[in-house]
Amino acid sequence: MTKKKHPNIGGSFDEFLREEGILEEIENKVLGKDEEEFDRCVGVTAGGKKCNAETPYRKTDHIEMRVCYIEGAGQLCFDCWKRIYGT
Ligand SMILES: [Zn+2]
Repeated sequence: MTKKKHPNIGGSFDEFLREEGILEEIENKVLGKDEEEFDRCVGVTAGGKKCNAETPYRKTDHIEMRVCYIEGAGQLCFDCWKRIYGT
């Protein structure tokens, strides 16, 4: 059950939006549009071609949150990561 509150006359509208989770929703929607483009794998295939596979990460994702990201190089797809670092 959700409690619906209405903004107090003295309260800030920003606060109201934050409490209701509306601000977060808006931010997600706005960011979601910007984040539609996924990062591409920077790895090189066995044949010497650029892999360029789509990774599960968006360009705006923090590199700390990513797996298979090589600092100074870029994002690898899991296949390239396995080929280079896997056992
Ligand atoms: Zn790759």
